[in-house]
Amino acid sequence: MDEHSPEVITAIHAVLKASELCQKIRKDLIGEESILKSDRSPVTIADYGSQAIVCKLIREKFPEDTIVAEEDAKELRKPVRSNILEKVTRYVRAFIPTASSRDVCSWIDFSSDSITDRFWTIDPIDGTKGFLRADQYAVALALVEKGAVKLGILACPNLNADIHQPPGEKGCLFVALKGSGSVQMDLEGRRKRTLFVSKVKNPSEATMTESVEPDHADHLFHQRLAEKLNISKPSLRMDSQAKYGVVARGEASLYLRVPAPSEPGYKEKIWDHAAGSIIAEEAGGKVTDILGRPLDFSCGIKLIKNHGILVSNGVLHEVVLEALKI
Ligand code: AMP
Ligand code: MG
Repeated sequence: MDEHSPEVITAIHAVLKASELCQKIRKDLIGEESILKSDRSPVTIADYGSQAIVCKLIREKFPEDTIVAEEDAKELRKPVRSNILEKVTRYVRAFIPTASSRDVCSWIDFSSDSITDRFWTIDPIDGTKGFLRADQYAVALALVEKGAVKLGILACPNLNADIHQPPGEKGCLFVALKGSGSVQMDLEGRRKRTLFVSKVKNPSEATMTESVEPDHADHLFHQRLAEKLNISKPSLRMDSQAKYGVVARGEASLYLRVPAPSEPGYKEKIWDHAAGSIIAEEAGGKVTDILGRPLDFSCGIKLIKNHGILVSNGVLHEVVLEALKI
């Protein structure tokens, strides 16, 4: 597989279309004046619409491949949800003009809940809370073969091209191909640049990134670890797999995800890490769980053999793993 392979071309096209749909829904349904923070319908519509588009475009090109995605259309098929289904269909039609409501449900349900030797995994909107806050979110797609991630794509519509130059141009596409490195482009596929992790050797100079949501990670534990490592820079809180992107391009040297005390046994979902992990690794980073074990994508929809996540620029990995043994 190389950058001209049908897998890469189709996957990039699908993710870009899905992210365009998400941006359109955000603009239409969450206007400046009527921020619907507690009403989850915009995110629901965007989740379903995004998944329908990605599933349809992947299945059309690779009919034999398994797809494992976050959503299913069970709820959407209920007569009581017909207004939501109608809205989803209307948005999907902007990209696939012939789409009917029945098509939309069947495309969403291309998703299976078990994996095979070769499968695609999709998070149609990763960081749904970020999406509602007009903050970071991502459309994530990865191809996994025999448990190894081979291709990862993330569209991050609200991420600046370069975090050091705000207010920069917004919208980034990250693409990583096993053995070929990681690149960033804008959402038109222009301004391509190869990504490299930071060269920070001393943990005290590191910037750490972590979830915004306190239920998704143990912020207090992270803070104690930062103190132990003499990390003085404030941590960069960000929703979604955009965190993997900022490690890949060297803006953060660490991404830590220790399970939150509210759910200490939480098992991460494959679609929350497959695309991001290859993007960080191909830029020179290292990705393991917090016990130093490689992420095992061969067990099903959850990373059942892993506990938490540690992403680093590689150089800092061992010292952080050591500090995690408290
Ligand atoms: P983030 O934006 O990095 O905080 O991660 C968003 C992802 O966190 C969502 O896609 C969820 O799948 C996942 N998530 C949901 N509940 C938890 C939890 N208790 N611990 C860790 N991650 C979670
Ligand atoms: Mg997610």
